[in-house]
Amino acid sequence: MTLTAQARGTIAELRESVARLHSELTRNELVVWTAGNVSARVPGEDLMVIKPSGVSYDDLNADTMVVTDLHGNLVHGDLAPSSDTAAHAYVYRHLPDVGGVVHTHSTYATAWAARGEPIPCVLTMIADEFGGEIPVGPFALIGDDSIGRGIVETLRATRSPAVLMRNHGPFTVGATARDAVKAAVMVEDVARTVHIAHQLGTPVPLSRSDVDRLHARYQNVYGQR
Ligand SMILES: [Zn+2]
Repeated sequence: MTLTAQARGTIAELRESVARLHSELTRNELVVWTAGNVSARVPGEDLMVIKPSGVSYDDLNADTMVVTDLHGNLVHGDLAPSSDTAAHAYVYRHLPDVGGVVHTHSTYATAWAARGEPIPCVLTMIADEFGGEIPVGPFALIGDDSIGRGIVETLRATRSPAVLMRNHGPFTVGATARDAVKAAVMVEDVARTVHIAHQLGTPVPLSRSDVDRLHARYQNVYGQR
């Protein structure tokens, strides 16, 4: 495959940033052993940068990242891509605004997925980041497009950048890989808080209009402009 010098430069930068973002998964205790993965779309190319399969987090760096096309075929790299590559590729093919995808089995979010229960919108933080409840996607076996299809169909029906795939765990998306990592950190944090709230009693839902106002403000006004 022939790439322009600009595309090669972009891929080199994404190899660095995607490798570095994997350390956020361990730092935030979202993953164990070699589970979990981050990918980034290569803008302007039908390519993505993703974690290699089965490599220790200590050994992840720019050189060990792999580049595949958006059907999961290896384009650059010495290692086999993540076993979840097909799901990431499906998301990039079908959601053109998505520039990053993250998958973990983080404990509390995965506990909600095990029960097949959406995380209700009972905190301003959930309204801000997710725009409503965090939905559950269908149960899907690894090996074909079913996981990717389940992610895309569920995300299309919601404002949430996170989906809890039933009996499996969270997948999150964002405009960039960093945004998708942020959503993965946030989904675990709210899954834990709402779980604790459930132990104490019945969490109080936010009204739809308050959710809408919080979400609009957070997406458009919050932070450094
Ligand atoms: Zn998984």
